[in-house]
Amino acid sequence: MIEYRNELIKMYSNKYKMIINISDNVISNMNLYLQNKPFINESGGVLIGYKVRGYDEIIIEDISLPDEKDESSIIKFVRKSISHILKIKKASLNNSFCIGNWHTHPVSIPCPSPTDLSTWKEELFECKSSFGFQVYIICGIDGFKVWLGEEKTANIVECFECEKNDGIYIDSFNENVL
Ligand SMILES: [Zn+2]
Repeated sequence: MIEYRNELIKMYSNKYKMIINISDNVISNMNLYLQNKPFINESGGVLIGYKVRGYDEIIIEDISLPDEKDESSIIKFVRKSISHILKIKKASLNNSFCIGNWHTHPVSIPCPSPTDLSTWKEELFECKSSFGFQVYIICGIDGFKVWLGEEKTANIVECFECEKNDGIYIDSFNENVL
């Protein structure tokens, strides 16, 4: 689990040798919707970003935000608002795409529900990104977790924060580190 920090956070999937960069504004926006009080419903949206050409790196640069047209309760969130689609369309003008989604859970440390896992697997079969993967984020009250799904196999693996050295990310897959 990653605690909320207002800075770029780098995650990796060792299985797929993929690095996922989550920008600071993505984290601070998700942070606005944490279910840290009993009356706050689940929130969610899509992740907007792109894969860096020539590198196994994904940049998540923006997210769509929930609004009153979405369907939500304390334990449920379904994207219904057109605003998510409009956000994706606008992003496509800048060569960014929908590369997954995020939602909140009303618990300290989040983990995917059986419904989350079955929904993610359906999405992996149905919505194809240009590079074969989708990213999923669940925001708990005290931190968030990130998963990478492979479209070809619908296999889903948890990602972990990249190793740091003196506060700076070591930006490579080193056998000794991982
Ligand atoms: Zn969930």
